[in-house]
Amino acid sequence: MKFKRLICCLTASIFITAGCTITETGQSEGSGEAEISVYAMDTVMNLKAYGSNAESALREAEREILRLDSQLKRGSENSEVYKINSGGAAEISEDTAEIVSRALEISRLTGGAFDISIAPIMDLWGFYGNNFRVPAAEEIGMTLPLVGYENISVDGCAVSVKNEAKIDLGGIAKGFASDRIMEILRRNNIESGIISLGGNVQTLGEKPDGSKWRVAIQNPDGGAYIGTVGISDMAAVTSGGYQRFFERDGMVYHHIIDPKTGYPADSGVKSVTVFSSDGTLADGLSTALFVMGLNEGLEYWRNHGGFDAVFVTDDNKIYVTEGIESVFESEFDYEIIKREMIK
Ligand code: AMP
Ligand code: MG
Repeated sequence: MKFKRLICCLTASIFITAGCTITETGQSEGSGEAEISVYAMDTVMNLKAYGSNAESALREAEREILRLDSQLKRGSENSEVYKINSGGAAEISEDTAEIVSRALEISRLTGGAFDISIAPIMDLWGFYGNNFRVPAAEEIGMTLPLVGYENISVDGCAVSVKNEAKIDLGGIAKGFASDRIMEILRRNNIESGIISLGGNVQTLGEKPDGSKWRVAIQNPDGGAYIGTVGISDMAAVTSGGYQRFFERDGMVYHHIIDPKTGYPADSGVKSVTVFSSDGTLADGLSTALFVMGLNEGLEYWRNHGGFDAVFVTDDNKIYVTEGIESVFESEFDYEIIKREMIK
């Protein structure tokens, strides 16, 4: 198996361009604008909202993020995911049951490219606790049978796992949390806001001046953005090998695993950004499409719809699906993919 040599930096995959940067913490009470930073789900999250009660809405969002984080944290003995993984079955909250159900639905739709039972393989590669190592092929071969989303079932608030399967929600939890934040902001009558949960960007309505939010897609090799997209009421989620990786003997091993092989996905893409009004779907799909690669990913897009995507391939080509053609801007060459172009 061949692995890419990458020169890159470990920063968030998507930034909000100048004019709506959300990197500072603070709020000016009563000004109708509030901004907070929260550390959760192993990342810094920036939240910004406009409206007379923006500050209290963001504080409610912060509480929700921290609550979800403590429920979903795989490594914490008090979490519900820990309960499932250590007991094989557990009665859990509606939220955790919902996220596991959504994850299983995306697994089925993507033919297992997305699979939350990837935990034993993540562990083997040392991604838990940053004890990175390159496992022997035999170890991967022995561990791979433990992976299979079919081993996980949800019935109401009861989750059970068979065949020693273990769950890792890292590929979808931030998308789920960002959908939740949007719900909270809407319930608080906030009409305009933008959040960035470590690269998962989600926007509510338009900017206060009525224009679209401009979200920039990071260049996987660092340097200038590969492009920007104008969005409203939409999530933009990037999965990229450059976001988390380690290096051994000149080879780069990243954190998105192909559940069929047990190795970091080597599908010919450096990053995939998915745009959808459904943040949970965008998160699950960005991971899945990264595993699938360009051709299979585009075929999936043509057959399912409900989202748009920007692919950056290993040979630095940029492909943009037609739904965002009119709002995508780039200084680089790129190809617009139309549905009828795909076999
Ligand atoms: P993302 O950055 O959203 O693409 O998610 C990557 C994270 O999801 C990894 O750090 C793992 O925790 C988990 N993961 C890795 N490979 C997969 C996969 N094929 N399906 C589901 N989750 C995965
Ligand atoms: Mg994801």
